[in-house]
Amino acid sequence: MTQITQSVGKLIDEFARLPGIGRKSAERLAYHVLRVPKIEALGLADAIRDVRENVHYCKACFNLAEGELCEICRDPKRSSEQICIVEQPRDLMALEQAGVYRGMYHVLLGRIAPLDGVGPDQLTIDQLVARVRGGTIRELIMATNPTVEGDGTALYISNILADQPVRITRLARGITTGSVLEYTNKEVLADALTGRQQL
Ligand SMILES: [Zn+2]
Repeated sequence: MTQITQSVGKLIDEFARLPGIGRKSAERLAYHVLRVPKIEALGLADAIRDVRENVHYCKACFNLAEGELCEICRDPKRSSEQICIVEQPRDLMALEQAGVYRGMYHVLLGRIAPLDGVGPDQLTIDQLVARVRGGTIRELIMATNPTVEGDGTALYISNILADQPVRITRLARGITTGSVLEYTNKEVLADALTGRQQL
């Protein structure tokens, strides 16, 4: 059996750590990197470095951002009276692609999951409460995933904000229970947003 070099072995190990990539796929990717023009391979390396060095969480809503605030928080045409609460930046992206919502977001960076040891303190709930107490918000739209944990998280948040003068709504149930927002098609998401119900 031919020996692979140390560098190739290391690259295969790194690819194999990616989600959904098994050993065989990792080997294929590594050989692909060796085969393509050098500039293309280094472009991949640069893209990984750039994203880790320049992208962080928006100071206001915890969406991904390259400056202090994300593009949505910086957009003066968006309403600051509504906040749509999602679990992850990719859920925000899915809702944006539906193209009907013109308010702000708040990304929780997870959901309350006692079985996985994730409590409310590990999410951005305190920062959300501070935003709501800040005063300009009139409606909170709960857009956590329609799973047991997503529903539990929405309920927890609406309980702690019950004394605030804001309307709390939940995405309409066009989305099948247990389905994940990021994989739901944009027409269904648009309907879920426009048909949202008081919680
Ligand atoms: Zn933001």
